[in-house]
Amino acid sequence: MSTGPSTQRLTVPLGALAVQVLHDPADRDLALLLASRLRHFAVSPYLHTLEVRVSATEPSHSHPVLTIHASHIASDVVPLVFLHEQMHWALARSQPNARDALAALASKFASSEFDLVHLAVCRLEVTSAFELLGADVSMRLFSAVTRYEREYHAAFERGDEIDACICCIKRRIDA
Ligand SMILES: [Zn+2]
Repeated sequence: MSTGPSTQRLTVPLGALAVQVLHDPADRDLALLLASRLRHFAVSPYLHTLEVRVSATEPSHSHPVLTIHASHIASDVVPLVFLHEQMHWALARSQPNARDALAALASKFASSEFDLVHLAVCRLEVTSAFELLGADVSMRLFSAVTRYEREYHAAFERGDEIDACICCIKRRIDA
């Protein structure tokens, strides 16, 4: 992970909060683009970590620092990717409720068939995206997602069952 001495940070005010976009000097344009896209979406209720890295080389991931890959930053799916990684943080910061939620999911969904963490994260992401982007835009964007297909399918088809398991996860910071 490259958060070495050359790492620069761009402060992006979002509502009452501010996100720090960390970037290598060569990736300043990427950081500016992500900043402008985040300002365009009202993401502040869903910020569970305020440090975000942009990377031209590493795939998007949540930990230890939420990182968004360059290919996602210019894409329509950037709000989904951003919400997805933020929801990993929502889960990680909801202990011990997250442990109980995963146990509840394990009692209903076969862990041989589903990635239980992603059942929770994808459902949290879908619910948040519907709030943030509306149903039509969300459905169009989710139809293009190719990873975690079983988990997203379950998030739509068995949403009530998943919600019953993850009801103690704090999805919005203002709720
Ligand atoms: Zn994930």
